[in-house]
Amino acid sequence: MPQEFKTKLKEKKQLTPDTWALTFDLGAQTLVFQMGQFVMLKILLHEKKGFMVNEEKKQLQYRSYSIASSAAEKNFIELIVKKTADGFVSRYLTEIMDIGNELSIMGPYGNFILPENPPYESIIFIAAGSGVAPCLCMMRTINTRALPIYLHLLFSNKTEADIIARKEIESLCADNLLLSYDFTLTRADDSWQGLKGRIHSEMLTPRLSNKKRTAFYLCGVPAMVNEANALLENMGVSPNDIKQEIYN
Ligand SMILES: Cc1cc2nc3c(=O)[nH]c(=O)nc-3n(C[C@H](O)[C@H](O)[C@H](O)COP(=O)(O)OP(=O)(O)OC[C@H]3O[C@@H](n4cnc5c(N)ncnc54)[C@H](O)[C@@H]3O)c2cc1C
Repeated sequence: MPQEFKTKLKEKKQLTPDTWALTFDLGAQTLVFQMGQFVMLKILLHEKKGFMVNEEKKQLQYRSYSIASSAAEKNFIELIVKKTADGFVSRYLTEIMDIGNELSIMGPYGNFILPENPPYESIIFIAAGSGVAPCLCMMRTINTRALPIYLHLLFSNKTEADIIARKEIESLCADNLLLSYDFTLTRADDSWQGLKGRIHSEMLTPRLSNKKRTAFYLCGVPAMVNEANALLENMGVSPNDIKQEIYN
């Protein structure tokens, strides 16, 4: 059942040139959610640091963000916010908002859920950019709660500098044998040793040969999710085994 929580920005950490992790303090309140769900921020924008609201861009704004922190965390919630080109609210959250500022969080919402006892043995999560946020929640929760779920992340970015939470993903996968990842870069420089180019079937086939019943989770902007969906359907994956969250 969604609820409204009054929160304060506790921490703001820049992860990549255009992405920040924002941590909100829940105090004594408890937000119970399932891996993959999102919250809606209810933000009363303040005119400061040159930021302006007007007739078209009103002071009270609502935006959705996937929960990136572990479902085991009770006192805070972490969101990954990409400052989009010409983005109004994402710019406010990442550049203008200060530690200690208040806002309301409503949720949890969404059906892009990974249950703790899923009807699958294995998950392949295909993400681009900030679409990795719900996967971070899943990896962190699988790790902290020792859940018996295999999860492989196929994470597409433009350059190495754009890989969100790279060190943490590498370290979670090194520590937990059920977790694995591949990074692919669409604008890799010559020194990059990993996968290159947009997501294609050869990046997925080695992961499908293990006979485990697999579900695919796709998350990111519409073009990426639609492309990955079409690719999986061409590979013969049943639409029933594909779940998607589109950021728009
Ligand atoms: C269920 C759901 C979960 C979401 N979770 C996240 C999240 O975890 N992290 C996150 O950064 N955003 C997420 N979004 C997108 C977020 O709600 C906002 O749309 C985004 O922050 C842009 O808001 P804005 O006011 O800055 O720009 P707007 O003026 O609302 O939009 C500017 C443009 O940015 C595009 N856009 C939106 N999100 C992205 C993105 N992530 N990357 C590239 N382009 C984008 C929009 O299609 C639009 O064309 C989510 C959206 C939905 C529906």
